[in-house]
Amino acid sequence: MSKQILPVADQAQVRAYARRLTLKYPRDLSIALGLHGLAAVAGLAAPWLLGGLVEGVQAGTGVDVTGVSLGIGGFLAAQAVLVRFAVYASSKLGEKVLAELRQEFVGRVLGLPLSTVERAGSGDLITRTSRDVDSLSRTVRHAVPETMIALVTCVITVGALLIVGPLLALPSLLAVPILWISTRWYLKRARDGYLRESAAYADMTDGLAETVSGARAVEALGLQERRHRRTDTDISRSWAAERYTLGLRTIWFPTVELGYVIPIVATLVIGGMFYIEGWVTIAQVTTATLYVQQLIDPLDRLLMWIDELQVGGASMARLLGVAEVPDDREAGSGVPDGEELEADGVRYAYREGHDVLHGIDLVVKPGERLAMVGPSGAGKSTLGRLLAGIHGPRTGSVTVGGTSLVELPLDDLRGHVALVTQEHHIFRGTLRENLLIARPEADEAQIRAALEAVDAWGWVEALPEGLDTVVGSGGESISAAQAQQAALARLVLADPHTLVLDEATSLIDPRAARHLERSLAAVLEGRTVIAIAHRLYTAHDADRVAVVEDGRISELGSHDELVAAGGSYAALWSSWHGTSK
Ligand code: ADP
Repeated sequence: MSKQILPVADQAQVRAYARRLTLKYPRDLSIALGLHGLAAVAGLAAPWLLGGLVEGVQAGTGVDVTGVSLGIGGFLAAQAVLVRFAVYASSKLGEKVLAELRQEFVGRVLGLPLSTVERAGSGDLITRTSRDVDSLSRTVRHAVPETMIALVTCVITVGALLIVGPLLALPSLLAVPILWISTRWYLKRARDGYLRESAAYADMTDGLAETVSGARAVEALGLQERRHRRTDTDISRSWAAERYTLGLRTIWFPTVELGYVIPIVATLVIGGMFYIEGWVTIAQVTTATLYVQQLIDPLDRLLMWIDELQVGGASMARLLGVAEVPDDREAGSGVPDGEELEADGVRYAYREGHDVLHGIDLVVKPGERLAMVGPSGAGKSTLGRLLAGIHGPRTGSVTVGGTSLVELPLDDLRGHVALVTQEHHIFRGTLRENLLIARPEADEAQIRAALEAVDAWGWVEALPEGLDTVVGSGGESISAAQAQQAALARLVLADPHTLVLDEATSLIDPRAARHLERSLAAVLEGRTVIAIAHRLYTAHDADRVAVVEDGRISELGSHDELVAAGGSYAALWSSWHGTSK
């Protein structure tokens, strides 16, 4: 039921990526590992000295307790200092890698084709950008360095055990099958379990986000019950997914605990028997038992982090998956020659097999005003978005000055064609930052000119900090009309020669509308305009009118020509004209 629109990377990809990431800074990595190795070696001294002490007592050859204590203390202090620098080095490395990961992911998300974002819904993306990034950062910050430290410590401790007495390493082997089998069992189930957990969480976020953003509709249509049920279902699915992974852990953890205790007991008992046989000394048994005990801590951390690495791996699979979304823009190098906008044989489908545009041919001359009219659902907005280069056509082409719109880099595209809708977003930040989005290099004078052009300079000047006033959520509140003017000023700065207008002002407070229409008229001045017209007088004033019906342009010509032709436009016009005058 969960709609998995955004792909998830497979295990091989995650492994390859993790390997590349780990080895990216070989120097930093070897320094960190080297320091951890030295710390582990320092930690081996105490059991060894203790072994000697026991041996001395047993042999009755007199022991230097003070010397041994000082030795142990010295090595412990050295270990503490080494650990401090080792942790510092590995944390620094982790942060560095994490910062790059985040940057890369943000780049990927911003590069997602709009059509994919629309289809995928925001829940999945929000979960990936929040929960998955969080869990991955825990992995990179803690799990990866800790795992490497634990590995180094284990290897060195096992090495020391073998040096002390190869025979005494044998009892520890008893733990291997227990740990191996139970961990294999766990890992085989964990990845899918955690992926399911994340997906269930995404569904829940999706549902809640939808309920909140559609709160009015929910209330108006009395959908509360249904939304409650959906949330309940989501929660219970999320709960089931969490319970599954919890179940895995409740079996795996105790088994592992058992795997730790057995080797210590075995080393002591079997070592004792070896001693009676005279195969090993009491010092060796003591030291070996302590080493085996010292193995528990890194081993435990290793296994615990394997669990965490699973969670991180699942998150990484979801984050890397974002990169697999095929780009709907092709990298091209063409430079438009002229300003003529042309659609040629354009077809487009939101869902495969269901074209909503069926072969549109249209040429818009520079400076022309073209109005698009037609029944709701005919495809006007879709065509508008294609003409503005937001989507690429399924077949056919949309070109400006002979260059395909989808081949233009987005930044260039916006300097040629822009779509104007009622949706405009004021980002949290200063007003200046909001305007500079359109053209980062614009100077003070250009910003001011743009605001003056849309008749907004007056209120901007009156803001507490002028252009540097923080607006958007949590900032200075500005009215909807002001926000729209700011959006129009952005357009002036981007300075596209062609504008596609989709119901630009129809939802505005009527008192503000006149004012805004003046601002809009100033922006339209001297540009090519394609207006999706919902009021016919817009069409009347246009140079040409295109009637869109059922995904096709059924009529195209000037107002007078179309009225004279007596087609569907003429019928529309006479009914509108007849009833409203
Ligand atoms: P108009 O602007 O003329 O009202 P649209 O271009 O909005 O028409 O819609 C044309 C067809 O495409 C309609 O059948 C509509 O249901 C469908 N459609 C529009 N937007 C989407 C979308 N984001 N996803 C799926 N179908 C869509």
